[in-house]
Amino acid sequence: MAKMYGKVYLKDCIVPSSEGMLSIASSAVLYGLSVYTVFPVSLGSSNKLLAFRLGDHFSRLIDSAKIIGLDTFEKEWNYGLFEKAVKDLVSENSVKGDVYIRATVHATAQIAGTRSRGLDTALSMFIYDAEPILKPAGSRVKISAWRRTSDMAIPSRAKVNGAYVNSVLAKQDALDSGYDDCIFLDSLGHVCELSAANIFIVRKGVIYTPDTSSDILEGINRRSVIELLKNNLNMDVVERAIDFTELYLADEVFATGTSANIAPIVHIDGRDVADGKPGKVAKQLQRLHIDLRIGAVKGYEGWVSEV
Ligand code: PMP
Repeated sequence: MAKMYGKVYLKDCIVPSSEGMLSIASSAVLYGLSVYTVFPVSLGSSNKLLAFRLGDHFSRLIDSAKIIGLDTFEKEWNYGLFEKAVKDLVSENSVKGDVYIRATVHATAQIAGTRSRGLDTALSMFIYDAEPILKPAGSRVKISAWRRTSDMAIPSRAKVNGAYVNSVLAKQDALDSGYDDCIFLDSLGHVCELSAANIFIVRKGVIYTPDTSSDILEGINRRSVIELLKNNLNMDVVERAIDFTELYLADEVFATGTSANIAPIVHIDGRDVADGKPGKVAKQLQRLHIDLRIGAVKGYEGWVSEV
């Protein structure tokens, strides 16, 4: 279990975590009507605490709220206010090392019925320490019988709390079957993503990843890795629909995400991926990704900001 820090942010205040409560009658609790993001804060050189792509995380929060129609959040918040709230929370908790921060926009209106527009919202944030959700030395995954929610049902592009029941179903099924995680397919059988990470495959020197119309979350690490692969590792990246049998033929498969980092996938559905060991591309990216979060990759220093 992850360790949570003692002070949390809720409705413009920093309070002890025991006081960070939502009403049982709120739409957030009744319908899972909240959107969220998680970003890492890492200890950089000269003891500076650095948030990774904070502006992009804030934009995705705004976009997620917009997709599901939580329209009051965008009216009340801007990046400057959000950044200040993050800084205040980090300082109040006397953070000294690497942590994650989860920021959620909740529909706090009570007994509002099944609607979203014009509802009161509140931002909550808490800080925690956590182990990566996938093994850096290689994970074993299964293709899930549960299909990814489609853009026409609950869009994966929006990070909606209630939609994570889909991930929980598939991940628990994978754990029950002795695997570390699952790979979701869409209703046509194309590859989407893992329970909480994006996926890449390498075939004959070319990298492929499902395009943003493949019912995926538009991962901030996915976007970062695409740039690193093209600019720093000089590799072609093709974003397109991927058939699930391509997973079985891949020379390498790996996942990306805030809580997954760069995670080699070494085994899928009883088959080893290539020789069953982490691949060369994933290993190169693992090294770059660690440096990226502390602003130590030349050309990408602007992706971190002090908090
Ligand atoms: N897909 C899903 C379903 C996720 O929950 C996550 C984790 N946020 C990702 C992909 C990876 O996104 P990011 O790189 O922004 O963490």
